[in-house]
Amino acid sequence: MSVLIFADQHEGRIRKAAFEAVNYGAKLAAQTGVTATAVALGTCSDEDLKLLGNYGAVKVLHDPNQLLDQFDPSVYAKALLQAADGENAQIIIFSHNFNGKAIAPLISAKLKAGWVAGALALPDNSDGFVVKKSVFSGKAFARVKVLSDKKIISVNPNSFPVEKSGNQAEVTAFNANVQESDFRIKVKSTETLSGSVPLPEADIIVSGGRGLKGPENWGMIEDLAKALGAATACSRPVADAGWRPHHEHVGQTGITVRPNLYIAVGISGAIQHLAGVNGSKNIVVINKDPEAPFFKAADYGIVGDAFEVVPKLTAAVKAFKEKQH
Ligand SMILES: Cc1cc2nc3c(=O)[nH]c(=O)nc-3n(C[C@H](O)[C@H](O)[C@H](O)COP(=O)(O)OP(=O)(O)OC[C@H]3O[C@@H](n4cnc5c(N)ncnc54)[C@H](O)[C@@H]3O)c2cc1C
Repeated sequence: MSVLIFADQHEGRIRKAAFEAVNYGAKLAAQTGVTATAVALGTCSDEDLKLLGNYGAVKVLHDPNQLLDQFDPSVYAKALLQAADGENAQIIIFSHNFNGKAIAPLISAKLKAGWVAGALALPDNSDGFVVKKSVFSGKAFARVKVLSDKKIISVNPNSFPVEKSGNQAEVTAFNANVQESDFRIKVKSTETLSGSVPLPEADIIVSGGRGLKGPENWGMIEDLAKALGAATACSRPVADAGWRPHHEHVGQTGITVRPNLYIAVGISGAIQHLAGVNGSKNIVVINKDPEAPFFKAADYGIVGDAFEVVPKLTAAVKAFKEKQH
């Protein structure tokens, strides 16, 4: 018996969120005395596959079929169902990211398995199988009891402390029975945004709002982001006005992020914005209005004019980093 964990890869590298999911699955497997088996689909770095062992996977199934380099949720679900069957998995773990959210419901329907979407903690087994998850855009928690025999959990990225074991995993070849005709979508071309960290995976995010007055002032946001090694984001009106591209828009109608550090500059902190960022570990707010609602959600607040504060902060970060070299 296994806890099966989907080790999501992108361009041949296992995603950071997948390592977290593997660690979660490994702890769950240890709780229930079964094997933690990770599954990677498509071309993937050998080094990363072995590294899954360090995050607790005892066994790694890898199907290097190049057809699987193209992500199609129904084909991935088909392959994962075969792996789950072969490993007699009662529990399947995903990261609650774009790919996990697309595959988990397909498998849930097929196996008639209860799915906890966006888990924040390991199951509590004292009264059934109860998992804590976030609800209402992160404004509340729910404890969900899963009643089905087979169970699916997708783990919220960056919400679970990762512990490494120092072990290496045994990587085993796995040949999923998938054909070209299984694919319902064909990717014609992809455009990669060079130099930028994908927002959902970013550890640090510097985000700007309407308080920055116009797109010509974004240089200081980019300078601070560069000094910190951060990704940049923005509020919705900023993207709607075309000051920044829409893929930077975070919030209820944009991307949900959970970085370790979210720096909000000139953003009021409307509920719809907070919905996408309130899972961040640390929130720093820079706003000239001491009554801005964002300060209520902040761990650190600076009341001041962004045009004075941000360049000083960037200079301080650069000076600190230079001292460290
Ligand atoms: C259905 C719906 C969905 C929505 N979804 C989203 C969403 O996903 N994401 C999102 O962001 N919004 C969303 N919104 C919009 C949201 O309600 C707010 O209008 C928006 O977040 C406000 O953006 P802002 O904070 O950049 O601008 P503003 O509300 O205009 O705030 C600007 C802030 O900058 C401060 N400021 C001004 N000048 C300076 C300065 N020199 N230095 C420092 N601070 C300064 C001001 O004090 C103010 O707090 C949604 C709204 C609706 C109705």
